[in-house]
Amino acid sequence: MKSIKIKNKEVNKFRRGYPLLHKGSLAETNNNIVEGEIVEITDERGSFIGRGYYGLQNKGIGWILTNDPSVQIDESFMEKLIKKAIGYRKFLYNDPDTNAFRIFNGEGDGFGGLTIDFFDKYYLINWYSEGAYCFKEYVLKALKNLVQYKAVYEKKRFGKQGQYIEEDEFVAGERGSFPIIVKENGVNFAVYLNEGAMVGVFLDQREVRKTIRDRYSEGKRVLNTFSYTGAFSLFSALGGAQHTTSVDLANRSYAKTIENFSLNGIDYEAHDIIVEDVFNYFKYANRKDLLFDLVVLDPPSFARSKKRTFRAEKDYTSLLTDTISITDSKGTIVASTNCAKFNMRKFKSFIDQACKDSRRSYKIIEEFSLPNDFKTTSSFKEGNYLKVLFVKLDS
Ligand code: SAH
Repeated sequence: MKSIKIKNKEVNKFRRGYPLLHKGSLAETNNNIVEGEIVEITDERGSFIGRGYYGLQNKGIGWILTNDPSVQIDESFMEKLIKKAIGYRKFLYNDPDTNAFRIFNGEGDGFGGLTIDFFDKYYLINWYSEGAYCFKEYVLKALKNLVQYKAVYEKKRFGKQGQYIEEDEFVAGERGSFPIIVKENGVNFAVYLNEGAMVGVFLDQREVRKTIRDRYSEGKRVLNTFSYTGAFSLFSALGGAQHTTSVDLANRSYAKTIENFSLNGIDYEAHDIIVEDVFNYFKYANRKDLLFDLVVLDPPSFARSKKRTFRAEKDYTSLLTDTISITDSKGTIVASTNCAKFNMRKFKSFIDQACKDSRRSYKIIEEFSLPNDFKTTSSFKEGNYLKVLFVKLDS
């Protein structure tokens, strides 16, 4: 087995269980290690730190999978990990109101670069490097042995800059006909496993959607920006919102939002679904003096449109300032980001800055990070990328 030497000053971090290998942590560059190869990680003198695999992702060059020298990375290793991961989600498998959730969350479940989601007996695998993809046979065997599935689909997310590679996504079982209708806390969603990287719903927002429906929507005028398939609007409408407005740049969002509303018996014509750049919409809303009681703000970490580039780490504060300008007094902003480049503390500083700039006082009344099924590990804090704050304006 080939080995990778870690620089002396980084050794302690890895001994404590940090799983992600960065190029900058290596004491030497070894060019003949190939994607998917299992390697031994050692200190500069050659003593064992862990065992892992090589796989290029935008965030690193591979993942350590064990710090135990007696553990081999083989078929049974993978099956044990997946079995344990499934056991950990028993409460969701047994939940009669929800049949869409994550069953394997990368390093949080012991194998960075791989996630598996469950959509009503369909399993969806995401591979984040060519190296991770080399373990496909192990993963498929494990699923075959451990669960009864209708089909397995996959997404390869290791094209240039971590982009999604377009190709047939069907892997095993019987081809589905899409959409399939899944359920989350009693609400129906249309899911398409055969149309590219985004399948119709982001599972990590489950608790936020439920909170919005159950406690923040009744009688409210709701604006959902970057609305995609309208998931937050749908939960608001079901929670008794007076009216919802969904805004997304992508043409597909219009039909998909109508579809989700209709699947839940909501008259979409009583709501606004607008295909438009959110930044233009803010201008329009300001001109028309529109005000909202609840605004959901869930932009991508990075987005390029014809006119501008949005980077969450740089531009979130000004996005909030725009949002505040159309939020009524005592209104609430649900500020969300999945950007791993900053932590919760920094995110709170964006909110503080935007409220100060707008001369509005505020309180943070709810705080969410990833739900339980998106298991994370304390040795890799940045794995808990989701940050959601409910910001209540005082005036
Ligand atoms: N909030 C959604 C997920 C958002 S995904 C949910 O919970 O389901 C990000 C969305 O932002 C995509 O649908 C994309 O089309 C949209 N988007 C990106 N840039 C945009 C812009 N400038 N204006 C409006 N929508 C934008």
